Amino acid sequence: MSCPISTRRGTIAYDEEEEHVLHDACGVIGVVSSNLQETEVSSLLCLGMVALQHRGQESAGMATTNGTSLNKHKGMGMVSNIFSEEELKRLAGVAGIGHTRYSTSGVSELVNCQPFIVDSVHGRIALAHNGELVNAGKLRQDVMSRGVGLTSQSDSELILQLLTVKPDKEEGSKPDWPARICHFMSLSQTSYSFVIMVGEEVYAVRDPFGNRPLCLGQVCAPGEDGEDSVSGWVVASESCAFLSMGASYLREVLPGEIVCLRRSGMKTECIVDRPCIPGSNDRKPPAFCIFEYVYFSRADTVHEGQQVYSARFRCGRRLAIEAPVEADIVSTVPESATPAAMGFADQLGLNYVEVLTKNRYVGRTFILPSMRLRRTGVTKKFGLLQENFRGKRVVLVDDSIVRGTTIGNIVRLLKSKGAKEVHVRVASPPLKYPCFMGINIPTHNELIANSKNADQLAESLGADSLVYLSIDGLKTTIQSGVRKEGASGHCMACLNEDYPVSLDF
Ligand code: SF4
Repeated sequence: MSCPISTRRGTIAYDEEEEHVLHDACGVIGVVSSNLQETEVSSLLCLGMVALQHRGQESAGMATTNGTSLNKHKGMGMVSNIFSEEELKRLAGVAGIGHTRYSTSGVSELVNCQPFIVDSVHGRIALAHNGELVNAGKLRQDVMSRGVGLTSQSDSELILQLLTVKPDKEEGSKPDWPARICHFMSLSQTSYSFVIMVGEEVYAVRDPFGNRPLCLGQVCAPGEDGEDSVSGWVVASESCAFLSMGASYLREVLPGEIVCLRRSGMKTECIVDRPCIPGSNDRKPPAFCIFEYVYFSRADTVHEGQQVYSARFRCGRRLAIEAPVEADIVSTVPESATPAAMGFADQLGLNYVEVLTKNRYVGRTFILPSMRLRRTGVTKKFGLLQENFRGKRVVLVDDSIVRGTTIGNIVRLLKSKGAKEVHVRVASPPLKYPCFMGINIPTHNELIANSKNADQLAESLGADSLVYLSIDGLKTTIQSGVRKEGASGHCMACLNEDYPVSLDF
């Protein structure tokens, strides 16, 4: 049995016992060769997509150009199952982009796989996109009122249509892509990070609020003189992709920045500013999604100069300061909560001990048919390390609670198998509001924090206590670790209802 989630763009089904139903919508990647072998480009894209697999496992696709034609391949499922060696040879080229997708629009079909490709008078254009345009509805109306038909609900198609129409101000017959992208950014301020390939160039674009991540790197190889020289440029949603691509991290794409990756090098084309705070000359701050730190990103990724693992560890420490507890051991709900659990234990001088093992081979498609089975369903995902917790007072740290299903099952299981006490600590504040920036969050009524406070929730789960990290605790902990030049700021709208842009359109 599955439950519907209402999103702005439709309804999707999800596994009722799946607690972490906060799904990110996609990973994007791009490679432009300086002097890479042509087969290396498609292989590097594939390696990067495997590293970004956690950002979407439903489908993946790649588009490459060999200088004269554009080749593409897309498929449903995991990257490693979609791209064979033969396919990667066929996709050999001098530049390319790729995408891993989690469907937010409900229809998990090949037709919605990215990159999206359109034929235009300037040749074929490919786009891979992460995020969701907050004003997509209005933009769709504007596009259609100009007589342009849209074949899908996809924001990616909408972006491409907006980019391919020649603006009134553009002179000459050659398209001014940076100017067109700037114009698009003035029409929609968030949320998107995308890569777009036109000819042999790849443009890397991040919205003015920097809501979704995007970063740049380079591939170096020893030249004939023995010195390293740059042989390619890369862009990816997360820096964790670079290690497996043999690339080195350079920097983040700045909020509002358009970077062009050409065979001759990489160049910032322009930076589009955020609007001013009403009644002030100051610009609104950036709004990088704070859940990239809490849950979405891989622990080895670096955002804003700080490793995600370290940020989670510090959140655990802060949680221990805010909500200490007398206990024998501290443990985790594997795996994204593990650094926070270790930080919690470290702060209180307690032992970190695992009480659960995770079965990595459980798919999302096998859904238990009855409530009785669903209530015990946690055992299909986790194994118990009973000797580690029997007779002990356990602190169980989780990164977030959405509906309380999984944590409730675990608490009941630990207690029934001999834990003396189970205290739940959550390394993020209560999740209460919808996201309009591309993350699927269950409806208001399904979010457990909207119907039960922490004490009521502890009681209903059978936990001895339950405390969330405070909003200020999360914000100051993350912001104290930011190491980057320029303004920083974070979206926390699903926690505090403070959206980066007005939703009134
Ligand atoms: S509302 Fe929440 S999930 Fe959405 S972008 Fe903001 S912090 Fe991220």
